[in-house]
Amino acid sequence: MTTSKFWSPFVQNLRPYVAGEQANRPDLVKLNTNESPYGPAPEVVSAITAAANVDLRLYPDPNSTALREAIAKHHCLSTEEVFVGNGSDEVLAFAFNGLLNQGKPILFPDVTYSFYTTYCGLFGIPYRMVPVDEKFRLRVEDYEDDCGGIIIANPNAPTGIALDLSQIDALLCMHPDQVVVIDEAYVDFGAQSAVKLLRNRPNLLVVQTMSKSRGLAGLRVGYALGSRDLVQALVRIKDSFNSYPLDRLAQAGAAAAISSDAYFRKTCARIATDRDDLSKRLTTLGFNVLPSKANFLFATHEQIPAEMIAVQLRERSILVRHFNLPRIENFVRISIGTPSDNDRLVSALQEILVVV
Ligand code: PMP
Repeated sequence: MTTSKFWSPFVQNLRPYVAGEQANRPDLVKLNTNESPYGPAPEVVSAITAAANVDLRLYPDPNSTALREAIAKHHCLSTEEVFVGNGSDEVLAFAFNGLLNQGKPILFPDVTYSFYTTYCGLFGIPYRMVPVDEKFRLRVEDYEDDCGGIIIANPNAPTGIALDLSQIDALLCMHPDQVVVIDEAYVDFGAQSAVKLLRNRPNLLVVQTMSKSRGLAGLRVGYALGSRDLVQALVRIKDSFNSYPLDRLAQAGAAAAISSDAYFRKTCARIATDRDDLSKRLTTLGFNVLPSKANFLFATHEQIPAEMIAVQLRERSILVRHFNLPRIENFVRISIGTPSDNDRLVSALQEILVVV
């Protein structure tokens, strides 16, 4: 690790998250960061284009009111129950610091989104990672310990495995005095959203993003849904950090995205169908594929080490994600692409299996 004498001790000790590679080659099949292969609805591009005018000289609405109203309407909530941020990563960061930072260890699975440990390091939050079982399933009964709060990605990342609502509700009932954050970055591809539990569970914060199912990773818009009480904690952090996290183009584009329901449903359904189809094809090639409800598959091969698969695919201009982390070092995570991307992936894997 490189350091500098100019860095504060705090910065020297940070363990930053490593994002997936953003290569910009037109020939590349990019299946490494779970972006949408289809992009946003056409209305989104029109809304952003219309907002790209002389009004950009003015600061945006610091409260993103019109966008929050649109999100609230979509989820049948009130505007005060919606918080928006610069990607759900920012929303999660605020939730860690504003709601989960209670001086007691928080709980999350040992195999999950690796940003959670980074946030704990950034904010000095103690944590305990709860092992998932040998099939990478989360067991709700393992979360009974006294804790400062819980965060669960549902579906989980990078496994894609989803909990059902009754299991999430059991977690919420187990810890009525702690906040349970459900990170639903991938929920729209087939899992059950916890939004409908919000009415009865004041300790629930649901976090969603426009980056995956709405095809807007480049716009950086995420949001949290929860009681006014919980949302106010996030607002207090926002207003102590950056009053304008969403620019004018992001607010306009995201509001159009949340209203483009038909396009959203169509693209999510297509991705879910292609995921299940790709899962079967990978199984035929000798992969063990975890049951995914997300827009990616997590797979390991009987004979070929995962790292070698990732390297060999890269040589064929296909990017997938390999994590050098305990328990999952022999898996690759493959985002679902267009049907032609998926075909190219399968052909490349067939080739690799013959060569190796
Ligand atoms: N949660 C999970 C589980 C994710 O995989 C991601 C994407 N890396 C995010 C949150 C953050 O997404 P974004 O900041 O693009 O909204």
